[in-house]
Amino acid sequence: MPSTKYIFVTGGVTSSLGKGIISASLATLLQSRGYSVTIQKLDPYINIDPGTLNPYEHGECFVTNDGAETDLDLGHYERFLNRPTSQANNVTTGRVYQSVIEKERRGEFLGKTVQVIPHITDEIKNRIQKLGNTGEFEIVITEIGGTVGDIEALPYIETVRQLKWELGDDCLVIHLTLIPFLAATGELKTKPTQHSVKSLQESGVQPDILVCRCEHSIDDEIKRKLALFCNVKTEAVIESIDAETIYAVPILMRNQKLDEVVLKRFDLPIEDNLDLVNWKDFLYKLRYPKSEVNIGLIGKYIELHDSYKSIVESFIHAGATNECKVRISWIHSENISRESAAKHFEHLDGILVAPGFGERGFEGKLETIRYARENNVPFLGICLGMQAAVIEFGRNVLGWEDANSTEMNAKTKYPVISLMEEQKKVKNKGGTMRLGACDCELSEKSHAFDAYRRKEISERHRHRFEFNNKFLADFEKNGMVATGKNKDLNLVEIVEIPEHPWFVGVQFHPEYKSTVSNPHPLFVKFVEAANIAAKAKKS
Ligand code: GLN
Repeated sequence: MPSTKYIFVTGGVTSSLGKGIISASLATLLQSRGYSVTIQKLDPYINIDPGTLNPYEHGECFVTNDGAETDLDLGHYERFLNRPTSQANNVTTGRVYQSVIEKERRGEFLGKTVQVIPHITDEIKNRIQKLGNTGEFEIVITEIGGTVGDIEALPYIETVRQLKWELGDDCLVIHLTLIPFLAATGELKTKPTQHSVKSLQESGVQPDILVCRCEHSIDDEIKRKLALFCNVKTEAVIESIDAETIYAVPILMRNQKLDEVVLKRFDLPIEDNLDLVNWKDFLYKLRYPKSEVNIGLIGKYIELHDSYKSIVESFIHAGATNECKVRISWIHSENISRESAAKHFEHLDGILVAPGFGERGFEGKLETIRYARENNVPFLGICLGMQAAVIEFGRNVLGWEDANSTEMNAKTKYPVISLMEEQKKVKNKGGTMRLGACDCELSEKSHAFDAYRRKEISERHRHRFEFNNKFLADFEKNGMVATGKNKDLNLVEIVEIPEHPWFVGVQFHPEYKSTVSNPHPLFVKFVEAANIAAKAKKS
């Protein structure tokens, strides 16, 4: 087998240029040509993982099958490639230092002084090559978080320098940069890019390809100028103009021949085998919907939409499948009261109550669910949203006024959601929830089964609290039934109200598994139910 090829993606000028999307788009093109590709993210922060981060800091925490709490870019990698990632796909500075320090404590450095070079850089190198060494991937794309010049990014850039030297032609660097447009003079400016490439060169790294984010098309003259100043070939200066959807970026990159430039540089054959038929079909459905629904997303982090990234993307996938545009109404749960509920929700065709932690905005979530239940509005509750649905039913249908989760009220008389026995001993916050893929068995007469069309499913979890089985019989007698269960742990994973047109609460996170080629069945059915509700409203 030929050696694994490594591609590094660095960022210059400013953050938020979309390194994750460029990496995922290039990977999509290479995968569509038959290569097996994976993408890895190196995050320069000191946290071991983003699991303990407030979503306001970096947006959603994405969870992989193996239970790793990771950066939200891994969600993009999975959604574009339809291939699961794992802990190995996300490395943080915290994790790198932790393992080096643990090795030092075990005496593995044999009395040597432990230093950034070579010990930290060796650890980073190992973690990059670990993916290549599995033999599973022909191409490994490694995205380096942050911007060139950041103090935190230095050990990563140094590692790239060393690997470029060691791997030679099996390694290339793509530098993603910004070409700002000065409206006053009507000009695109290349200077910031020249400076950020210089800064990379000062660290000993020469980029092979420049991907230039811009609001206006960059012409050949600018490409030639950039090539001249930055030591890259003109054909390797790639324009990345703002796109109407992230899913159009692979096509834009294809038009700029990014995949061909990469293959040529690796001396790999450029065959006429690029297959983007399904991708284009998806884009077509996204662009030309036949109907429209309005779905409320009720959560407490809505000021930062990235906190719910995978949910938003799942709606895009499910919308395309239904040929229906999903408009999201972002509603802060802190603003909802019994009196204001109707005003907030009247215009909605579906309601999703989001995952979350803690008490803030929780009562508003309960009022939201009451409205959805009583007014037959299609409802999907995810994780805390499912737990809230159970509590709302306990309070308002079963009449248990102080029904609650012990997360919110440890002393409630009706702890309908409570901690599993093994969670009671847990002291540390990081990495200690029920995390990752778990099996679940569905009842055949249920909306869940209707969506998945099979009995055995596997979904990803991230929570500590669970449905309290002590109360299950009361719920089931009165109209809320458990339609999905984890048989090994005897846990309720899905609840439904059969009397309601579409009311589903799931303890797991379906949004982590929705991809372009595999839209999540629960989202697809939820959007379908909302579409039916919307049509009924109109007629
Ligand atoms: N806070 C709840 C728990 O820990 C729900 C978590 C979530 O929504 N991800 O069980």
